[in-house]
Order: sequence, then structure tokens, then C-alpha cells
Amino acid sequence: MNPRRALVTGGAGFLGSHLCDALLANGYAVVAVDNLLTGRLANIEHLRNDSRFEFIQRDACESHLRGSVDYVFHFASPASPVDYAAHGIETLKAGSYGTFEALETSRRCGASFMMASTSECYGDPLVHPQTESYWGHVNPIGPRSVYDEAKRFAEAVTMAYHRYHKVDTRILRIFNTYGPRMQINDGRVIPNFMCQALRGENLTVYGDGSQTRSFCYVSDEIEGIMRLARRSEHLPVNIGNPTEFTILECARHVLAITGSTSRIQFEPLPQDDPKQRCPDISKARQLLGWEPKVDLESGLRLSLEYFRTAVQEERTRAV
Ligand code: NAD
Ligand code: UDP
Repeated sequence: MNPRRALVTGGAGFLGSHLCDALLANGYAVVAVDNLLTGRLANIEHLRNDSRFEFIQRDACESHLRGSVDYVFHFASPASPVDYAAHGIETLKAGSYGTFEALETSRRCGASFMMASTSECYGDPLVHPQTESYWGHVNPIGPRSVYDEAKRFAEAVTMAYHRYHKVDTRILRIFNTYGPRMQINDGRVIPNFMCQALRGENLTVYGDGSQTRSFCYVSDEIEGIMRLARRSEHLPVNIGNPTEFTILECARHVLAITGSTSRIQFEPLPQDDPKQRCPDISKARQLLGWEPKVDLESGLRLSLEYFRTAVQEERTRAV
């Protein structure tokens, strides 16, 4: 019997490439579609000789593939605030045309579907911690709207394909996830702080650093994704770590783990930067029997070697 086949859009990205690994480990053949806008071939280099893995360099807004798949994971989209600010129109297209295309593939193949949504759907939340039933507080015309509204639209399209076309859909609301294979220059807080600390540069804390985030290590996130993939839950599910840190606390953890003598430098807070973010994961706990296992300190330690090597490679390239 042929193995089940999964399509992962955004498969050369940080999360997409880890998802490809997990699917292969679970017996799937995997097709990764990625236009390399923010992803890298290096993330999937180790899969090059795996006969069950195929990479197609293509925009997810275009027709994906010939042949059939059993599962579609739609992860293609710029994800960091710096990336989606640089690629605003592409981000809106990945969430709209890209989601339609991925859902059409699911519909044509009778495949199950999951879309990577985000805690950004809650915007700058007025409810804390955020439960899936909260509709959010999003500025529809601010600088983050290209991402937030694209994802909210993608959720609406996903629910519509479930309601009108009976596609077996899932909506995964991912909260800040970090780990090896993140781009070191995508501007997200963990790669920024880790690389700044390892280069001996000041850590750039935006605002007064009192805004909060809750950081999930990549192995926990992927385990949550795989568990959700096996369930027929069509309404959104939060997958993230519910331990909340201020950004200043996060900076201090990075300094401690890297042993760096870098200092903290305060810089202006970007517009509409959410003041607090923490997932309520009661639904994931009950539905999936899932909760994260890796705390921030351990996750930063597990990521240290990756960021150290990346910074060294950067130095070598500069020489
Ligand atoms: P990433 O930038 O590493 O990965 C995104 C991938 O999508 C990249 O490889 C990029 O080249 C690809 N891509 C972008 N537009 C594309 C297009 N039109 N066609 C084909 N490929 C395209 O980011 P990530 O952190 O791995 O995020 C993956 C998904 O998870 C995204 O949809 C993101 O919105 C979602 N997400 C991530 C986080 C997080 O904390 N990492 C949080 C919330 C949601
Ligand atoms: N941040 C920071 N310094 C940085 C990068 C980010 O203080 O060098 C802050 C940012 O303002 C936000 C938080 O860290 O409050 C998380 O930012 P990130 O870009 O990782 O993701 P977000 O959760 O905002 O999408």
C-alpha cells in the first residue's frame, strides 16, 4: 500500500520544515511547496535524499500539484512582523488566494485540511488569557493588519469550505513559537535577542519591555499540531505555552543562558504592538491531552547551538 501523502505549503520555513520531519516520522510521504520568500532550502536539506520527500518551489497562490494527497497543511505566509511589513501584499495574498488554493486542493482530493492561524487573530487583546471564543481586538488598517486580517480571512474561508463543501478542516491558532531553523534576521524577539547576545551587541527591548508574550518551544508546538491533525475538530484550537513573560524578563533569560555581557537598550515600541498575549490552552488540554513540556529556559538552551552556529557562519561570510 502507498503511504499517505501530505502537502505542506510553507514547507521550507521554520515550522513547516519541522512539520515535514514529523509527518515523515509518522509514515507520510510529503510534498513541500514553498516560494522561499522567507524560508530556506537549508531547512529541508537533510530531507533531500529521502525518496518520500518532494520539494516544489512555487507560490502557494498558484495551483499546487498534480496527483492526490490525503492531507493539506497550509503554512505558507510570512510570519514575523518584520517580514510581513516588508511583504504586505504577499502576506495578504498567502492568506487569501493561498488559502483558497489549498482548500481547493483538499476539496478536489477529499483530503483533510489544517491552516496555520495565529494568536494575532486576537490583536491587542482585551480578554486575558485568550480563549478561542474571544473574537479579538484588531486594527483593520494598521501596519499589522496585512497579517492579522489575512489570517482572520483565512479562518473565515476555512470555515466556509467546511460548512459549504464539507471539507474536513482544522484551524490551529499558534502562539509565539521559537527554536532551531528560525531565520536569524527575521526580527522576531527570540532570534533577535539570541543573536544580539551572541554577537555581544545590545539587546533591543521595544517600549519599556513590560509587554508580555508566552513562548512555545518548537517540539511542543509540533506535537500539538500532530495531535490536532488526528482529531476532527473544526473550530479553532490554541496551541502555545501558557507561561507568560514580559519582554524584559525574556531578555534577562537570554543573557543568563548565553552568558553574554551585552546590555539592554530600549527602543520605540512599534505601532499596535500587543500589550499582552497568553493562550488559554484548556481546549487543547481536554481535546488533545496536550500541554507543553519545555519551559523557556530549557528551550533557549536547546536553541543555543543553532543560534551560535548561525552567528559564526554569518561572521565567516563577512570575512
Ligand atoms: P517562516 O517565515 O519560517 O515560514 C513561512 C514559509 O512560508 C516560508 O518558507 C516562506 O518562504 C513560505 N511562503 C510565504 N509565502 C508563500 C507563498 N505565497 N507561497 C509559498 N510559500 C510561501 O515562518 P514560520 O514561523 O515557520 O510560520 C509558519 C506558519 O505558521 C505561518 O503561516 C505563520 O503565520 C504561522 N504562525 C507561526 C507562528 C510562530 O510563532 N512561529 C505564530 C503564529 C502563526
Ligand atoms: N521585541 C523587542 N525587541 C526585539 C524584537 C521584538 O522588544 O528586538 C518585542 C516586540 O515589540 C513584541 C515582542 O517582542 O512586543 C514579540 O515580538 P515578535 O516580533 O517576536 O512577535 P509578535 O508577538 O509581536 O508577533
